Amino acid sequence: MTDIERIVLATGNEGKLRDFRFLLRDTGVELSLPSDHGVELDVEETGTTFEANALLKARAHAELIDLPVLADDSGLVVSALDGRPGVYSARYAGTPCDDHANNRKVIEEVQGVDDRSAAFVAVLALLLPDGREILAEGRCEGRIVDEERGSNGFGYDTIFYRDDLGCTFGQASPEQKNARSHRAAAVAALLAQLRELELIE
Ligand code: IMP
Repeated sequence: MTDIERIVLATGNEGKLRDFRFLLRDTGVELSLPSDHGVELDVEETGTTFEANALLKARAHAELIDLPVLADDSGLVVSALDGRPGVYSARYAGTPCDDHANNRKVIEEVQGVDDRSAAFVAVLALLLPDGREILAEGRCEGRIVDEERGSNGFGYDTIFYRDDLGCTFGQASPEQKNARSHRAAAVAALLAQLRELELIE
């Protein structure tokens, strides 16, 4: 297989798309969406792990699109909540997905709890047209604050506080978030594998 020039990002999440565009900006790899290829799928995430759900999404799209397909399954893992919301992050407060409702629910659940440690986790599944499946994972530590702060980012960014920044990801610039995020770590791990396989420069 020749160099990867285009990757189809199997998501409908605008926030993820913005992050990936930023993270892949220097690679020369073009990103497109399934809808650019006439595909609109809402894949049921029936897996119980990030990896299983990333593979479900990537495989469903790869069956219909003859290009490298990348899926991201990610979420917030809160220590005091036994790892919840975890793989249920997107719809933690019910459907349809409501970021503010999800944030309120997590804030309520950690009231009175001293240990506010949490992590964002992202698992990426890249499926190549020749059938190869490449997985990469990234993690980013932080802690949960008592109210939403900032309006940048998406999802739980506004309640995810980083000591090194002195603010939440919702208050941080895209550069600051993307220099330390779970998605940045996962993309770095993925790109390292692609370089190793000589699929990108
Ligand atoms: P997925 O589409 O099942 O992977 O759900 C991902 C969900 O996890 C999102 O809807 C957010 O609620 C949360 N999430 C994942 N990554 C981030 C992030 O970078 N910032 C904030 N929330 C995130």
